[in-house]
Amino acid sequence: MRIGICPGSFDPVTNGHIDIFERGSKLVDRLIVAVFENPTKKPLFSMAEREAMLHETTRHIANIEVVSFGGLLNQYAIERGATIIIRGLRALTDFEYEFQRALLMKKVEPTIETVFIMASTQHSYISSTGIRELACFGGKLEGLVPSYVEGELKLKFKDKYKA
Ligand code: ADP
Repeated sequence: MRIGICPGSFDPVTNGHIDIFERGSKLVDRLIVAVFENPTKKPLFSMAEREAMLHETTRHIANIEVVSFGGLLNQYAIERGATIIIRGLRALTDFEYEFQRALLMKKVEPTIETVFIMASTQHSYISSTGIRELACFGGKLEGLVPSYVEGELKLKFKDKYKA
């Protein structure tokens, strides 16, 4: 059985991520979407909230499993028998960071292959950071995040979305 991991902070999950899950899940028998704590970022949503949003928004993908984890991705991948790490790639700005991460992963765990899926053009400008910024000013979120996530963001910034 081929197992892939799609790691990220997903703070919150966007339509860009969902597109990567839908396409990535076709490349493997099981796709583990792993929410992790990025120590360099202060999250808007807690791990539990991010995990819950991922559960809600990935129900339509049969071979997906949502987990959260702390610690080293390579160790977690080995524990779970995963051999592929799937990441989305947007613009050139993603490349430098992703290239370094993929090389580092190859160095610490040569058996794991990092595979990149190109962002679809209609999602290539969507980032969780941009969504958080939009939401904190009460911006329109339609078409950028799943409607469930839109609702959660509007709850977080209640005062900005008063009818
Ligand atoms: P991280 O905190 O590790 O950077 P993110 O939660 O921001 O993770 O994103 C997880 C993965 O999804 C990364 O590989 C990122 O490049 C990819 N990704 C983020 N937004 C998009 C998008 N709009 N289209 C395609 N891939 C995306």
